[in-house]
Amino acid sequence: MDKSSLLTDLTDQSKETKHYPCKIGRLINSLEGDEREALVKAIELIRTSNLNGKNRSHSSVWLAKVLRKNGYQISVSTIQRHVNKECSCDQSEG
Ligand SMILES: [Zn+2]
Repeated sequence: MDKSSLLTDLTDQSKETKHYPCKIGRLINSLEGDEREALVKAIELIRTSNLNGKNRSHSSVWLAKVLRKNGYQISVSTIQRHVNKECSCDQSEG
């Protein structure tokens, strides 16, 4: 069983990564209600503050710290990739 799924994963890349969200995407999916909204909002704020370079209170470093404090081990670079829409989540969004 394991062998055949390993073979599939190794040989059929299109199946593997397509709609598989990154850590942030999976975290968003796992949250509900206000928490989910707040996280989505925070990511938007980081995105816009990255763009205009003004409001640096919301940064990937800040979010990583907040998440770590709450038991989510997600690296700054993972957050940045999600903020910059360079992660795997974005392909399923639009
Ligand atoms: Zn993502």
